[in-house]
Amino acid sequence: MKIVSTIAEVRQQVREWRKQGLSVGLVPTMGYLHEGHASLIDASCRDNDRTVVSDFVNPMQFGPNEDLESYPRDLAHDAKLVEDHGGDLIFHPEPSEMYHEGFSSFVDMTVLTEELCGLSRPVHFRGVCTVVSKLFHIVQPDRAYFGKKDAQQLAVIRHMVDDLNMDITIVGCPIVRESDGLAKSSRNTYLNEAERQAALVLSKAIFEGMSLVKNGETDCAVILGKMKTLIEAEPLAKIDYVKIVDCATMQPIPVLDRPALCAMAVYIGKTRLIDNFFTEDL
Ligand code: AMP
Repeated sequence: MKIVSTIAEVRQQVREWRKQGLSVGLVPTMGYLHEGHASLIDASCRDNDRTVVSDFVNPMQFGPNEDLESYPRDLAHDAKLVEDHGGDLIFHPEPSEMYHEGFSSFVDMTVLTEELCGLSRPVHFRGVCTVVSKLFHIVQPDRAYFGKKDAQQLAVIRHMVDDLNMDITIVGCPIVRESDGLAKSSRNTYLNEAERQAALVLSKAIFEGMSLVKNGETDCAVILGKMKTLIEAEPLAKIDYVKIVDCATMQPIPVLDRPALCAMAVYIGKTRLIDNFFTEDL
């Protein structure tokens, strides 16, 4: 397993692999890797001869008052996890390598990015689309792996690849959870003991929503009402949004009459956490 920090080094390595006729998978991450990331690396290693993991806290996807500075970083830990899971290359660039002086081109998207997280994080998806496009151009993978944990991001990336005719297969992987239900996230490290306990309200509400849908409930107001009541009972929790949207457009729907995504963002203290389920996965 190799760690490189320049675009030229990634290109050279991938060229060598291509000469040998090997397939390449890409797992884009912001580092501080956990079992959720590991599941994407495992999937990529299963499907491809070689796996590249990008490890880059992308400044462009953070808003002015977000956690860019405090976002956890630990390259040594990440290197061990990637190696243990069979990854072949970590791309760990400095921001200046990805965004040279005078950088002024962006990949942007309407509609899908204007709901859910896009409402409270207005510059987020422009940053995501731009950095993921750059990574796709740098690595030129056959397949790229994204977690359903970031469900809107997965939908946005699929849409971008389709709109811009990128010849890459996007693979969505299931949410990996702690044994008590909390979705694994690098941001869980921000939680103190009381907040960690309170954070369980997200997965509890998700499981409640899943069970209502499984039992035949199709009225989104009823499902969301029960989920919100659960969350609001937790004093440390503050809802950003809890919504049910059309999977393809990310626009809210009143009735479950098509494949849908039920997604939430909830503040636990100062930490903003997300969770979701796709009705098609039930
Ligand atoms: P991040 O480092 O948070 O930007 O995440 C990198 C990738 O890992 C994204 O595609 C995430 O959706 C995915 N990911 C993060 N947490 C999880 C999880 N708990 N389960 C599955 N995938 C995850």
